[in-house]
Amino acid sequence: MPSPENTAAQRLSELAASVEQAAHRFDAKGKAVQLVAVSKTFSAEEVRPFLAAGQRVFGENRVQEAKGKWPALKAEFPDVVLHLIGPLQTNKVREAVELFDVIETVDREKLADALAVEFRRAGRALPVFVQVNIGREDQKSGIDPDEAVAFAQRCRDVHGLDVRGLMCIPPADVPPGPYFALLAMLARQAGLAGLSMGMSADYKLAVGMGATHIRVGSALFGKRDYAAG
Ligand SMILES: *Cc1c(COP(=O)(O)O)cnc(C)c1O
Repeated sequence: MPSPENTAAQRLSELAASVEQAAHRFDAKGKAVQLVAVSKTFSAEEVRPFLAAGQRVFGENRVQEAKGKWPALKAEFPDVVLHLIGPLQTNKVREAVELFDVIETVDREKLADALAVEFRRAGRALPVFVQVNIGREDQKSGIDPDEAVAFAQRCRDVHGLDVRGLMCIPPADVPPGPYFALLAMLARQAGLAGLSMGMSADYKLAVGMGATHIRVGSALFGKRDYAAG
């Protein structure tokens, strides 16, 4: 049996190779793509081999769950960069700003304002992404695509947030290409360079369409057991 460290290193290098290949095929810049390793539902012990293999950028979708495992891991690996990729309630903003390094899910005025207030209070201004509900789905968070450009500009100009780009989760079970293309177009219109799009099933396509950040969970850590998480 390979050790967990070897497995983690192997999965990371396979993923990097396939990102590079996808970038090449689509003439995009694979080396510039940042891998956000999505460790939600996986324990600190399951995450550790990926840290040992050199991965430093991780994503979690729940503040509470992240609080349970990341403070100790961050003490051990101070250069970890932790992305919040799930919905953020305004009453959790303080905890989120203490623990996370990038907030990818800014999707409404009230949250943008709460973050701006907390960044000033804490003296710690985090880079953010604006989450777009790219398929206009009732069950998904994110700002409507029609409002995304103006909202991103307000986040920057009115709230003073360091907006790096746009983020989306396309609808399941339909080809994601048109949604990635729409997100890329909106980012261009907003004058933003960052594009957080692509997960285990579709990161290659996302890279080809200009993703700067891919959020990959199960392809690295294995199948998630939500009942246990
Ligand atoms: C869980 C999750 C991912 C990773 O999904 P996989 O299919 O496991 O790669 C990416 N982005 C968000 C917002 C998620 O919640």
